[in-house]
Amino acid sequence: MSTTGGGNSSAPGGPAPAIGLALRERTEEICQRVVSQWRELDNSSDHSAKDEADVRRTARAGTLAVADYLVTGEVVTPDRSEAWVWTGEAPIIGRITLSDLTKLYVRWRTACEDVLREEARARGSTTALLDQCLKVLQLGFDVSIVRMARRFEMTRRGLEERLAEQQARLEHQALHDPLTGLANRVLLLDRIEHALESAARRPSGVAVLFMDLDYFKSVNDVSGHSAGDQLLLEVARRLQRAVRPNDTIGRLGGDEFVALCEDLADPLPDGVAVARRVAELFEVPFSVCGREILVAASIGVAPANEGDTAQRLLGRADHAMYRAKERGRGRIEVYDPSFDRQNTHRAEVAAALRAAVAEERLDVVYQPLFELLTRRVIAREALVRWRHPELGDVSPSEMIPIAESTGLITAIGRFVLSRACRDCAAWRSRGEPDVGVSVNVSGLQLASGKYLGEVEDALKESGLPPDALTLEVTETLLMSDRADAREGLERVRGLGVRVAIDDFGTGFSSMSWLTRLPVDLVKVDGSLVAGLGLAGRDAAIVDSMIHLAHTLDLDVVAEGVETEAQLMHLARLGCDAAQGFVLEAPAPVAARP
Ligand code: C2E
Ligand code: MG
Ligand code: MG
Repeated sequence: MSTTGGGNSSAPGGPAPAIGLALRERTEEICQRVVSQWRELDNSSDHSAKDEADVRRTARAGTLAVADYLVTGEVVTPDRSEAWVWTGEAPIIGRITLSDLTKLYVRWRTACEDVLREEARARGSTTALLDQCLKVLQLGFDVSIVRMARRFEMTRRGLEERLAEQQARLEHQALHDPLTGLANRVLLLDRIEHALESAARRPSGVAVLFMDLDYFKSVNDVSGHSAGDQLLLEVARRLQRAVRPNDTIGRLGGDEFVALCEDLADPLPDGVAVARRVAELFEVPFSVCGREILVAASIGVAPANEGDTAQRLLGRADHAMYRAKERGRGRIEVYDPSFDRQNTHRAEVAAALRAAVAEERLDVVYQPLFELLTRRVIAREALVRWRHPELGDVSPSEMIPIAESTGLITAIGRFVLSRACRDCAAWRSRGEPDVGVSVNVSGLQLASGKYLGEVEDALKESGLPPDALTLEVTETLLMSDRADAREGLERVRGLGVRVAIDDFGTGFSSMSWLTRLPVDLVKVDGSLVAGLGLAGRDAAIVDSMIHLAHTLDLDVVAEGVETEAQLMHLARLGCDAAQGFVLEAPAPVAARP
C-alpha cells in the first residue's frame, strides 16, 4: 500500500477481508484499551470528557482505516493521498506531551496487532498473511506518528508564539494607558527614575511637566464621554508633537498628562520653553465630534535637582500645576521650594480657621450696591471677615480657598447666610423697605444637597422674602464640571431667590454662555471696570456685556469701581448699578446709620 499515492493499492487476497471485517467489528474493544491507557497517562492533568472523546475518535479512525484496507484493498478516506494522516491529527495535541501521545499510538497499534493475531489464528491463516496485515498496520502507524510529531511541533510553536504575544500584550497593558497608549504612572515613574540616574552621570538636565486640562469635565457633561475621549486622544497627539522623540509623554488618568523631558542643557528655562510650546498647541481649537472647542491647560514645571527621586519630582510638578489652577488656570507655574513653606502656613491657617468657626469668631461686613441713575442703595453684599489672633485680618481670597479645601466653607457659608438674612430683614423693617442682600456661595455648598434646606431655614427664621436675597456664584463655578452644583443652584432659584454671576469676565466663558446660564444678574468684574477710559478693549467688552445682558433681561452691576470717571462711563454705557470704594467700602453693620 502506498500512503502518499494510495489509490494504486491492490486488494489483499485470501482471508484478509475476513480478518479486516473482524477488526472492524472489534473496533470498540480496541478503542476501550486505548482510552484506559489514556486515563492512566492523564491522571495528573485535568481530564475532560472532550479529551477522552478525541482519543476514542482517533483510535477508531486508525482502526477503521486498517480494517477497510484489509477488506477492500483500498485506502478509504475522503482524500486518498492523505490516507492515515487524519489519524495523526489528534485534536488532543497541545494538551498532552508528545511522548504520552506516542505511548497512546503504540497502545493502539498493539491492540490492533493483538486482534489481528487472534483473528488470524482463529481462521488458521498463514504467517505471510499475518505479516502482511501487520505491515499495513505498521505503515499506518509510522505515517500517523510522523504526521503527529510534525503537527505537535507546529502546535507547540504556535502555542509558544501565542503565549509570547499574550505576554507582550499584558506587559504593554500594565505599562500603558489603554485610551491613548501613552505611558501610565508605573512606566512614567520608571522612566523618570532612569532619566535621573543617567543625568547624575553626565552633565544633562531633566524636567517634568504636569498638565491638567481646564474644565475638561464640562466637555464630558455637555458633549458626552466619547467626545471627551476624542479630545484626550487629540491632546495626547499634540503633546507628543511638543516634545522631542526621546522624551516621554504619559497620562496619569482623567485629564492629567505628564511630559518627561531629558537631556536638557538647563532644566529650568528649557522646561519652561517646552511648557510654552505645549500652551501654544492649546491655542488652536480642538475639533471634537464635528465641533470646534477651545481647551486650556494648567501646566506645572519642575526642574530636577540633585538627589531627587521620581516620586518627589512628579509630586513637585503636580504641586506647581495645582498652583497654576489656583492662580486662574490656563497658565504655567514653575515649582518653587517656597511652596512647601506655604503649605505649612496653609495648614496652620486652616487649624486656626476651624477653631474660629467653632467659636463663632467670624464676622460679616457689607458693601452697598448703588443704583447708578438715582445713587440709591438697592442692596448690600455680605463679605466674610476673620481676624487671626497673630496674623491679623486674613483676606477672604486667602481664607475661602482654605475653607473650601477643608470643607469648612459649609459652616462659614451657613453662618454668613443666616446673618445676612437677619440683618437685611432688620434694615427693611427700619426704613429701607426695598433693600436686598447679596451672599457669596461656593460650589461646594451648592453641591452638598443640604443647601436648599439651609436657604429655606434662613429665609424662614428671618422672615425675609426670597426675592430680597441674591446668591452670588462665580462664573468659574457655572462653567465647571460641577453638574451637582449647577443643579443645586437651580433648585435654590426655584424658591424665588435671585442668582448673580460674580466676577464676570475673568473666567473662560464666552459672552454667549450668558444665554444659557440660570442667572438674573451679572456682576462685571473690577478688572474690566479698571480698564474703562484707558486705551484697550475693556470699554468695548463692558459695553457689549451690558448690551447682551439687557437683551437677555438681566441686570448689570459693575464691581470694584474706584473713580468718579469710571462711574460716569458706566452710567453712559447704561449699567444699572455699581459697587466700589469710590461709593462705599465694605463696613461692619454697626457702622450703618
Ligand atoms: P467678590 O464677591 O467679588 O467681592 C467683592 C470684593 O471686592 C470684596 O473683596 C470687596 O472688598 C472688594 N472691593 C469692593 N470694592 C472694591 C474696589 O473699589 N476696588 C477693589 N479693588 N476691590 C473692591 P473681599 O471682601 O476681600 O472678598 C473677596 C472675595 O472673597 C469675594 O469677591 C468673594 O468671592 C469671596 N468672599 C467674600 N466673602 C465670602 C463669603 O462669605 N462666602 C464665600 N463663598 N465667598 C466670599
Ligand atoms: Mg461677590
Ligand atoms: Mg466679584
